[in-house]
Amino acid sequence: MATVNKPASLVTLIPAAEVSEELQVLAATWPVWDSKTHPQKPKGSGKFSFDYSGDYDTERVLITKGRATLTPVNPAGGDAICIESGDSVYFHRGFKCNWKVHSPMLKHYAYYGDDGELMPEPEPGITCDICKAGCFVESYFHTGEDGTELDLCPKCFKKDVGKYSGAEKQKFGEPVPAPAKRQKKK
Ligand SMILES: [Zn+2]
Repeated sequence: MATVNKPASLVTLIPAAEVSEELQVLAATWPVWDSKTHPQKPKGSGKFSFDYSGDYDTERVLITKGRATLTPVNPAGGDAICIESGDSVYFHRGFKCNWKVHSPMLKHYAYYGDDGELMPEPEPGITCDICKAGCFVESYFHTGEDGTELDLCPKCFKKDVGKYSGAEKQKFGEPVPAPAKRQKKK
């Protein structure tokens, strides 16, 4: 049986010159991600943070256009890396980084399981950063004073409303306006 090696880093960059033809052919069949359609903070800045904590072992991508810098948030993530057209990147579960897209990016992507096999694309989802419960239907997005971004399930949000004041209520990942205060009946 083959030994499964743990990646030394939570992200693996395969420079364009080392990307095999086999991977190029395979990746062409994967869905495409367009950086322009990804929510950015602030809008249009090319900046967003991403937490690779989905129900997969590794997200593999092949970049076909653009350039970006990824700055790991977690200490085990390693140094900041620059990725660009032609490169392949493996994002391992647990990796968390800040993206800065310098030139609009297109990339093919696919998810691989613990067994190293290609997985069907998971449903979009949001996971509570406190209790890890899925909270795609209703969640609260909070940015701390130090810039820490959290997705919270309604339960965790309500447990500590004071701490998370100003959090943005979201339904299916989209912000919803706060409900108007009900008028007291006389
Ligand atoms: Zn929670």
